[in-house]
Amino acid sequence: MTRYYNYIGGEWTSSVSGEWLESFNPATGELVGYAQNSAVQDVEQAIDKMYEVFQRSDWGYNPKRRYEALLGLAQKMEEQLERLAVILTREQGKTIKESRQELAGCVDTLKYFAGAARTVFGRSVQLEPHNFGVITKEPIGVVGIISPWNWPALLMIRELAPALAAGNAVLVKPASLTPAISVEIFKLIDQVPQFTKGIVSIVTGPGRSIGAAMGTSKKMDMISFTGDTSTGKQIMEMATSNIKKLALELGGKSPNVVFADADLDKAIPVIGRSIFISAGQICMAGSRLLVHESVKGEVLSRMKRYAENLRVGNGLEESTDMGPVVNQAQLELIANYCEIGRSEGKIVTGGQRITGGAFDQGSFFAPTIIDELPSHCRVVREEIFGPVLAVQSFAREEEALEMANDSDFGLSAGVWTRDLNRAMRMSKGIRAGTVWINTYNKNFPEAEFGGYKQSGLGRTRGVDGLMEYCETKHIHFEIDDLPSEEGREDR
Ligand code: NAD
Repeated sequence: MTRYYNYIGGEWTSSVSGEWLESFNPATGELVGYAQNSAVQDVEQAIDKMYEVFQRSDWGYNPKRRYEALLGLAQKMEEQLERLAVILTREQGKTIKESRQELAGCVDTLKYFAGAARTVFGRSVQLEPHNFGVITKEPIGVVGIISPWNWPALLMIRELAPALAAGNAVLVKPASLTPAISVEIFKLIDQVPQFTKGIVSIVTGPGRSIGAAMGTSKKMDMISFTGDTSTGKQIMEMATSNIKKLALELGGKSPNVVFADADLDKAIPVIGRSIFISAGQICMAGSRLLVHESVKGEVLSRMKRYAENLRVGNGLEESTDMGPVVNQAQLELIANYCEIGRSEGKIVTGGQRITGGAFDQGSFFAPTIIDELPSHCRVVREEIFGPVLAVQSFAREEEALEMANDSDFGLSAGVWTRDLNRAMRMSKGIRAGTVWINTYNKNFPEAEFGGYKQSGLGRTRGVDGLMEYCETKHIHFEIDDLPSEEGREDR
């Protein structure tokens, strides 16, 4: 059985706690590996070490080194993609196809930010005859990345790549449910000589103790957190200790809005995928379906067929379309929401755990669609993080927009129509960080992603994503002897 260690100061180390975390396969219940159940002292030691390395190394001044390091990691991950995909599926449960896609996303992100490391541009400006300003973008210092379990590889790399590209030292704390895949990626970092020794570290363990130690540490200059909105609120409070810079990527309850003129042949499989990919455990899940009343019957019967045709099972089998949810606790949480849905609406399909034979060993939930839900129902309002689609209908475009925006969240949305004017009106009106027109789940390292309202703070990916990890400095030159008017004319 693999045992995973912390990586601090460029060395593999054991926690002072002497304790281990266990990581389990949600499809079979088997043990996948052991990781360090770290203590607060491990985090403090890591932060001290990183601060020292950040101060004395050329990492923050050497963009070509950072470019080569990130590119080196991209190449290692590309070579090891299939092996990593198996580990990811065994630990997290998602299908092997989804794991390959997630890891390919990591490679693409690393390549993009490798190049971006060489483009951390500032500006310069003549302010007055004697005064000249140079506005530079600089690394912030020691950055903590706290990541969730649902896309553990990509959501770590999505922040690690720009934070390192900008020249920071970075300490990662992955989710306790998925330490193995995160530390496996660090084993590859260890093999890339261009990384300054000690500039990037990982410590595994519980969020409420070591995550909180990162949040409250006065030596940590920034926290980049991806996770639940309620945890994000706690991190905001912790960050007041030293007015820490924050980037927050939080929850969602995103709608797909289907108008009467939508191309349903295209829409149904994309909407189906948007909610059932990763068994619905994805921040941008299209978990609300708002459909025009004139096409509701057809859309619902086609969505029902889509959901019932999905092959649910062990993600390691190539034919599986949807894997288990991450653990029993998540299974129970989803089942509770379905009971609420059953009493306040109508279950169209699913609504229960899948049992019998091999299913009994894992945490499998049936793809679920619930109709006739009132707007105030918790199934419509709260993030479930499971394969549960809440359906509501509308009669007019203004009503659709109002319903789409009637949420505490604002992460993403899909709009399905052939009318370009309506698509534009809706995309301008929807208060969310991403609006997809006649598609969904299209993400690129080049294009910013993030939340309005309680879905987050700041942006990840793209130029803005890089700038999140930079401080801005004004360096000012005052010139004593300017040539006189005559002098300039002479020249
Ligand atoms: P979570 O908030 O429970 O945990 C996320 C991370 O925070 C983990 O590493 C955890 O150990 C740590 N943590 C927990 N309590 C902490 C504390 N008190 N102090 C510091 N750290 C703490 O979230 P999760 O269940 O792992 O992930 C699911 C959530 O993440 C969902 O809400 C989902 O929408 C959100 N998410 C958002 C995005 C995005 O890009 N917006 C992407 C993926 C997931």
